[in-house]
Amino acid sequence: MFLPTTPAEVRERGWQRLDIILVTGDSYIDSPHIGAAVIGRVLSNAGYRVGIIAQPDIRSDSDILRLGLPRLFWGITAGSVDSMVANYTALGKRRQKDDYTPGGENNRRPDRAVIAYANLIRRYAKSTVPIVLGGIEASLRRISHYDAWTNRIRRSILFDARADILVYGMGEQTVLALAAALDEQTDYRTLRGLCYIAPQPITDYLILPAHLTVAGDPQAFTQMFHVFYRNNDPVSASGLCQQQDTRWLVQNPPAFPPTTEELDAVYELPYTHAQHPFYETQGSVRALDTIRFALTTHRGCYGECHFCAIAVHQGRRVYGRSEGSLIREARRMAAHPQFKGIISDLGGPTANMYGFECAHKLEKGACPQKRCLYPKVCPHLPVDHGHLRRLMQKMRRIPGIRKIFVASGLRPDLIFADRKSGDLYLEELIRHHVSGQLKIAPEHSEPHVLARMGKPAIEACTLFRQRFYQITHAAGLDQFLSYYLMAAYPGCTQQDMQRLRHYTRTKLQAAPEQIQIFTPTPSTYGALMYHTEQDPFDDMPLFVEKDRRKKLRQKEEILPGRTPFKPVRKAWSRKKKN
Ligand code: SF4
Repeated sequence: MFLPTTPAEVRERGWQRLDIILVTGDSYIDSPHIGAAVIGRVLSNAGYRVGIIAQPDIRSDSDILRLGLPRLFWGITAGSVDSMVANYTALGKRRQKDDYTPGGENNRRPDRAVIAYANLIRRYAKSTVPIVLGGIEASLRRISHYDAWTNRIRRSILFDARADILVYGMGEQTVLALAAALDEQTDYRTLRGLCYIAPQPITDYLILPAHLTVAGDPQAFTQMFHVFYRNNDPVSASGLCQQQDTRWLVQNPPAFPPTTEELDAVYELPYTHAQHPFYETQGSVRALDTIRFALTTHRGCYGECHFCAIAVHQGRRVYGRSEGSLIREARRMAAHPQFKGIISDLGGPTANMYGFECAHKLEKGACPQKRCLYPKVCPHLPVDHGHLRRLMQKMRRIPGIRKIFVASGLRPDLIFADRKSGDLYLEELIRHHVSGQLKIAPEHSEPHVLARMGKPAIEACTLFRQRFYQITHAAGLDQFLSYYLMAAYPGCTQQDMQRLRHYTRTKLQAAPEQIQIFTPTPSTYGALMYHTEQDPFDDMPLFVEKDRRKKLRQKEEILPGRTPFKPVRKAWSRKKKN
């Protein structure tokens, strides 16, 4: 049964009033892959009366008031993607399609959805209960941040939305504790994973440079970002304070990740894996094609790629579900009337990070000056693909499951770092879990661009390709590799794209079509570099392509149909010949 989204459903339950109303920029898709559904289910499971309003009309009160006023709080999320990323391409064009909107047309999610929904509530609800922000848009915009769409540093979204509380990261634990505190009228301001507004800074918390300072000074913004980024580990992080106007943003340390049992419980709540019928009548959502029968093994990522927001939103610590929970979910999927025998993904932010973690990180927090995978896989990370192999083998034996695909991205460097099980895993993956094509994301070939992306050297990709086709041919399979590449990343020039083109044609023997132009996602190192035009790790000036036509030209350099790139001979070698 879905959570209520219409007054009739509230009445059917015999409820006079809801405790919490969640407002989301996605359609109401009841799936463990959708944040609003997860938060709604977790709260409901704890006994709260929760309703969900999806994609409300922001020009009238017809949607926002249809469930009445909540007793405890309003919860707002922009949805699964930052609304500006969802609404605009990297070149600033309005997107036509939205996979999370009924019918697929991008006509329901307002720009800066979190702010738009908070304004909507204040305008019509005249509510006295707190407005609580959550989800990825709020999480990435919780302190002063670079906003590529206005090309300026914006203050915390908590201030711009004029909301009361912001829950950052993966928020189940924090939201539950917050609901209890509001219900019991106790002080919520000490809860982990939460930001709020205060008249003065908090003793013992680190003071970040003020918003006004970082808005006008790229060096101060860089310093602020380093401190913000390093204080993101639940074991070692300090609380942070930043003056935004006359008031202060307070960020408490991050919430501790859930235990395996707690995470299992979140994923085993009674999701219907469908769109609520109220929205289904308006059209189907494309997102369900990929998430309805997909299994999440873990959260978090060791990678910390500088263009990606996962490290800031989900954290550097990887924590997973138990084998038993995943198998139970797979069995439930197999019994679903619409299941056709195929699990579309067994993965997480990166597929092959399940089942191992660094003991030092668990005890003392992530190293502030070192990275787990860059420039090489850290010897302290006990990489072991054995757990994943066992899981895949057990899953394949479940009656009713014909195929289990791995659609999440992979880290080839981790596979090669695992001497014991890496190649066995690869063999198993390639023989049984590829849906015709397997995607990997080298992103680039040039060492200086990869270094600024925080990505490993390209050799791991070349080696992976070689091994992939060896195993594929030996197994007599007809399947291929596809590659995600990126254009116009800070530091990348047209010549770098020519070299990337040369690499793809000669070493990969492919003409990749999946090339994205870099989007400066808020609160990433990539966005910091884009804004400051400086490498934040060595303070060296950085070329950054900001001209839209030239960004497009970088992308087009790689697309099939271009004339082959001939590397320019160096002057000295010509002289030598003469
Ligand atoms: S010791 Fe290595 S694996 Fe562990 S947190 Fe530090 S960099 Fe990461």
